[in-house]
Formats: sequence, structure tokens, C-alpha cells
Amino acid sequence: MHEHHDIVIVGGGLVGASLAIALENSGLDVMMLEAASPGGLPPVFDERNLSLAEASCHALQALKIWPLLRTASPIRRIHASRVGDFGHVSLDAGEVGREAFGHVVIARDFGEALETRLGDVASLTRCRPARFIGTRLKEDGQREVRVADAEGERLVTTRLLVGADGMESAVRTALGIDAQRHDYGQTLFVSRVRPQRAPDGTAWERLGPHGPTALLPRFDRHYGVVHGVPSDEADAVAALDEGAWLARLQAAFGWRAGRFIASGERSRYPAVRVVAERLTAPRAVLLGNAAQSIHPIGAQGFNLGLRDALTLVEEITVHGLDDVAMLDAYTSRRREDRERTLAFSDGMARASSNKGLAMRGMRSVGMAALANVPGLRAQVAAGGMGYRGDVPALCREHSR
Ligand SMILES: Cc1cc2nc3c(=O)[nH]c(=O)nc-3n(C[C@H](O)[C@H](O)[C@H](O)COP(=O)(O)OP(=O)(O)OC[C@H]3O[C@@H](n4cnc5c(N)ncnc54)[C@H](O)[C@@H]3O)c2cc1C
Repeated sequence: MHEHHDIVIVGGGLVGASLAIALENSGLDVMMLEAASPGGLPPVFDERNLSLAEASCHALQALKIWPLLRTASPIRRIHASRVGDFGHVSLDAGEVGREAFGHVVIARDFGEALETRLGDVASLTRCRPARFIGTRLKEDGQREVRVADAEGERLVTTRLLVGADGMESAVRTALGIDAQRHDYGQTLFVSRVRPQRAPDGTAWERLGPHGPTALLPRFDRHYGVVHGVPSDEADAVAALDEGAWLARLQAAFGWRAGRFIASGERSRYPAVRVVAERLTAPRAVLLGNAAQSIHPIGAQGFNLGLRDALTLVEEITVHGLDDVAMLDAYTSRRREDRERTLAFSDGMARASSNKGLAMRGMRSVGMAALANVPGLRAQVAAGGMGYRGDVPALCREHSR
């Protein structure tokens, strides 16, 4: 029998699952394909620590995901500095009338909350394990999607194909959309670290000449650590025993957060940027990492992808699925947020890899200037809280 769904979402990771939940009351019949099997979470819901900007926290509350999170921990201050430079930036949420800039959650916990919430979404057909393997535009204007699952291959038609299938998006490739790639030459190690002095809600960023080191305050008296190293040193860092790893972190970060006394397991990720040259094709759209994968140092990737998903839902509500203006409106609304967030994350990443003295001086001036200009501080804080460009309504507090 011919299978048809109004929307087919490829990828049930952070962004695809959030989109499926946000479409709950749209009246549309939605299918979500996910390569991972039921009974376990997709691999992306691992031990990484996710910093959720205030705008994302508001949206997750409106989507009824927030109460299901068990590990949310507030970020009350942000402290950024660079090895060898004078000046640092310290922003307190109280300066912008907030108790917190956002919250830290563990990706695994977030995945479990999404999984529980997805169970309530009656309009959703979940297909897993199932892989997207191709698509074409049919003569009648609909999209045909080729799906492979345990029973073999089948065809599904849809009015909108959504590629939320991550950095190496097969949907992006099948649509013929090119992507620009940049390798930062860094490997990022993630683990949890227990400090002697309990975290006080400060998120720390230390930009070193060979990579960034960031500490996010967790609910369990640990910091979530991201430590970037040159990729050619990654195997040696992976082989360090706990004591040597802690000594390396302490040397890279310094003593501002006290002594590090224990560490959990380490996982590693390549630091690359992959940016799709277009966001849409006829009856198709890319969201989240499929549209833009950015360096994790600015903690923006999911926050940006969630705003992609919520903006898409708003434009579908205004234009419906069959109006070509819907995808144009989506692209145009995402432009500013996407460009500014990419520039911010890229700037942070490059600031922690450039050893040139001229750049170094300029960055010091930048840090010192930012530290003292109230308007600039407020702008940086607003960006960090997820308010860049035309923000979807669910990200605003009144929509709770
Ligand atoms: C170390 C690290 C720390 C980070 N910290 C933060 C942070 O603090 N804050 C933040 O906002 N972001 C952070 N990010 C970024 C964040 O993890 C990503 O932006 C987010 O995972 C993107 O979600 P996504 O759904 O677009 O893609 P993914 O999470 O990659 O999900 C893609 C899904 O698609 C599925 N899939 C792939 N191919 C197919 C196919 N052919 N068929 C069917 N399914 C398929 C995969 O199984 C997967 O479940 C961090 C990233 C890293 C690596």
C-alpha cells in the first residue's frame, strides 16, 4: 500500500525530536525516521554537557520537555579569558536582570526526556531503526523518500522532507546541496571533573594557544569539561591516565576554579565546521547540524538548531505546507541568527588557535573593551541567551 505523510523528518536526534514535539498540535501527520534502534537512545545523546541558552529553556518549558529534565543546573556567571592576555570578561546574570543565562544538562538526560515526551505525541509515526537512502521530486510535485529498514526498501511520499540527520547529512547530499567544510585541526575531549571547591554557577571559558578549555557547572558537584588539543596530540592525550589528564587540564585552565581532584571517562570529537550552502530545495529543508555544524566552544549548536525547528513550525503555521513562500520565509528568517551565531562560534574557535602576536593584542583590547562597556556587555549577554535575530515566539518568556 502507498505510504504518505505530510512531513517526513529524517533524524531523531536533538533537533529532529524537538521538531516532532513542536509539531504536536499542528494537525499534520508526521513521520520521523531514525537510524538508531528503539530501546536505546541515538548515540548523540551521550555524556556531553549541553549548555541551554535562556531562549531554549523557555521553549523547552513551552514544549513540556523541561519538567522531565533531572539534571538542569543554572549558569549564573560567564567568565572568559585567554592565556597570556591581560583582561578577562566576566558577565553576571544579575546585570541583565536574570537569575541565570541558561542551564546545563547532560545530553543523555536530555535524550531520555525527549524520548518520554515523544511517547505522548499521537500524530507522530516513528520508524526506527530506519535509514533515509534517497529522494526525488515526483511529477505531481510531491517528494518521494526511499527508506531502508529491517524489511528492506520502501517508498514514502511527503509534502515536506526535513533533513535533521546531523553533520554528515545524507538528505543534504541527496538534495544536491553543497557544504563548506573547515577543519580546526583540534580534537575536543569531554569529561566530567570534580573540583575541590564546589561549582558556584560560573561557566568558565579559557582560550589557550592550542585550543579552548571550558568548564560548565553541573548539578552533581562536577564540572562538565571540554578541552581542545591539536589533533596530532589527541592519541597521546587519550592515553593519559587520570592523574596526568587532571594535571594537563589544570595547566591548561589554571586555578580560578580551584584544584581538580577526579575525572570521569573521556570521549573525543573532531572540531569541524560544516555549513550548507542552501537551507532548502523544493519541498525540502535542512535543520540543525545538517544545515550548520559549528565548533562546540560557544555552546550554540543545539540552541541554534532548536530555533531552526521552531521557526519552521511558525512558518508552516502561517503559510501551510504547499505554499512555496513558506520555505523562502524560513530561509530569510533564519539568516541573521545563523550568520551571527556562526561568526560568534568561529571567532571563539579561532581565538583559541591563533598564535599571532598582532591578533593576540587585538583580542586583549577586545576583552578589556568588552569588560567595561555596558551596552556591549548586554548585547553579548543577549546573544549568549539565544536572542539573535528574529527569535521564534516560544523562546520568549511570556509563552510559558
Ligand atoms: C562535545 C560537544 C559539546 C556540545 N555542547 C553543546 C552545548 O553546550 N550547547 C549546544 O547548544 N550544542 C552543543 N553541541 C552541539 C549539539 O550536540 C548539536 O548541535 C546537536 O547534536 C545537533 O542536533 P541534530 O539533531 O541537528 O543532529 P544530531 O544530534 O547529530 O542528530 C542526527 C540524528 O540523525 C540520525 N541519522 C543520521 N543519518 C540518518 C539517516 N540516513 N537516516 C535516519 N537517521 C539518520 C542520527 O542517528 C542522529 O540521531 C555540542 C556538540 C559537541 C560535539
